[in-house]
Amino acid sequence: RSNAEKFEFQAEVSRLMDIIINSLYSNKDIFLRELISNASDALDKIRFLALTDKEVLGEGDNTKLDIQIKLDKEKKILSIRDRGIGMTKEDLIKNLGTIAKSGTSAFVEKMQTSGDLNLIGQFGVGFYSVYLVADYVEVISKHNDDKQHVWESKADGAFAISEDTWNEPLGRGTEIRLHLRDEAGEYLEENKLKDLVKKYSEFINFPIYLWASKEVDVEVPTDEDESSDEEEKTESSSEEEEESEKDEDEDAEEKKPKTKTVKETTYDWELLNDVKAIWLRNPKEVTDEEYTKFYHSLAKDFSDEKPLAWSHFTAEGDVEFKAVLFVPPKAPQDLYESYYNANKSNLKLYVRRVFISDEFDELLPKYLNFLKGLVDSDTLPLNVSREMLQQHSSLKTIKKKLIRKALDMIRRIADEDPDEAKANDKKDVEDASDDEKKGQYAKFWNEFGKSIKLGIIEDATNRNRLAKLLRFESTKSDGKLTSLDQYISRMKSGQKDIFYITGPNKEQLEKSPFLERLKKKGYEVIFFTDPVDEYLMQYLMDYEDKKFQNVSKEGLKLGKDSKDKELKESFKELTKWWKGALASENVDDVKVSNRLDNTPCVVVTSKYGWSANMERIMQSQTL
Ligand code: ADP
Ligand code: MG
Repeated sequence: RSNAEKFEFQAEVSRLMDIIINSLYSNKDIFLRELISNASDALDKIRFLALTDKEVLGEGDNTKLDIQIKLDKEKKILSIRDRGIGMTKEDLIKNLGTIAKSGTSAFVEKMQTSGDLNLIGQFGVGFYSVYLVADYVEVISKHNDDKQHVWESKADGAFAISEDTWNEPLGRGTEIRLHLRDEAGEYLEENKLKDLVKKYSEFINFPIYLWASKEVDVEVPTDEDESSDEEEKTESSSEEEEESEKDEDEDAEEKKPKTKTVKETTYDWELLNDVKAIWLRNPKEVTDEEYTKFYHSLAKDFSDEKPLAWSHFTAEGDVEFKAVLFVPPKAPQDLYESYYNANKSNLKLYVRRVFISDEFDELLPKYLNFLKGLVDSDTLPLNVSREMLQQHSSLKTIKKKLIRKALDMIRRIADEDPDEAKANDKKDVEDASDDEKKGQYAKFWNEFGKSIKLGIIEDATNRNRLAKLLRFESTKSDGKLTSLDQYISRMKSGQKDIFYITGPNKEQLEKSPFLERLKKKGYEVIFFTDPVDEYLMQYLMDYEDKKFQNVSKEGLKLGKDSKDKELKESFKELTKWWKGALASENVDDVKVSNRLDNTPCVVVTSKYGWSANMERIMQSQTL
């Protein structure tokens, strides 16, 4: 085209497209879900803008916030059209090619090893999945702030943009035209598309229409002669075969105009989805399968794994809202990588059914960012800016309730897990239906345990609740995970403190001289082997009125021994000499201790100093 401007794809995007084009991946269906998801996002955006400025919606058909799918069997074109926010020329250039999203290279890397194309949406590059089925794609878009433009590419490293002077005006929104490859002919079948929308786009909150054919019976007028013939025939046949026919029917037959019935194909928009939001339904009426599917669509996680838990509730009172929270089956790889820099809440915020934002950090504290879900509030105001909303006083209440519900939900994973019940000697919890729940808490802990620890550090209000969720191994846990409650239930009579030791790994800790005596006397000691545990124990001072005692630190009390005083007295000279010999900058004190058994002596950290393990961690961080 004469007015087309040419652009090259950003290098990573180009590589991604190559991978997609050459992929032997069999599940090509996913492109439709990605396009519908983009259309839905674009509709969310315009609906949000319309809250504060009705004008943006325009008038007539432009106000209809829907998605339309159309087929052209002859030209082999599948098109998806939305009346969303649309893209300006600038948007088209940036969003579809020249600026790589942060997830692009991560996804490319993944795909080169053993990646699953199914996860493309999670990496923010779902659009390019169109090249699974098309060899040429046109994106026609009209944004309120610009003229209508066409983006087009054959995925050959370049794309072109032209001002659109030949297509019909869209009014507003985007139409994506896929020129399907020969082997993708199945996507020209209406039934295939209907199935896909049902399967993948069930929870889209805008109506999705298909321009669908329908075989209809039409009455067409017939010639005079013909019709009289036919009339005779029908009359005679009804007399012969159905004598019992009612009088009225016969009357109707007689009055029938002179027409005949023929089959004809007509086209009309057929609605493919039910737009009733799942969170507005009564939780009792929503099936497990529906929650699972809803989770998949919300998290863009189509891995077929079930979420570990969910909680669907309505909060009433001063602040009213509905929420659905999920614990995903797996933690994303980068969950803790940018923990302190990135605020990546995974909750979607709706106000009275209108999507507001999925980057609302005020809803959950950082340590719960691994949860997915949504909140729909009736209390928050609709027609204010995001910034104003962020400061709204109701948010505090919402956050508080969400945390409470989230922690309850996590605790329930443990409560319903037969493995956990066994560890707690609650045998009555076991029954056949719990099979699915078996080992779920250990799974949760492996994926998200660190988040619970970060929670203990950050959230003083819920520290005790979070501490209940803590799991660890100990000298008595026999390679399994155990909890503080279980530890307490095993404490020896007279034992006041909860004992723990920190170090790089369990094997090394098992050999520690600090444990000799404790083990011999039958005391249980917790192993903390994660670097974050050192920080954790600076915040977790006590649990159920029991203090924590690091057994490698000063202050270990194992019950008084009558000989203690005597021993101290008789070694007085030795300890004095020793302290002098080591010089005061090396040690604070030299003491007779009852913490050892075979080892003659050991270096103990002072109560408020860093443990040897902490020194090691700090060293590795500064190096
Ligand atoms: P994501 O949806 O995760 O952002 P995609 O690769 O699916 O990633 O889409 C890239 C970007 O292109 C979107 O963020 C959006 O800005 C733009 N886009 C795609 N489809 C549409 C559409 N139908 N309407 C408006 N913008 C769109
Ligand atoms: Mg997308």
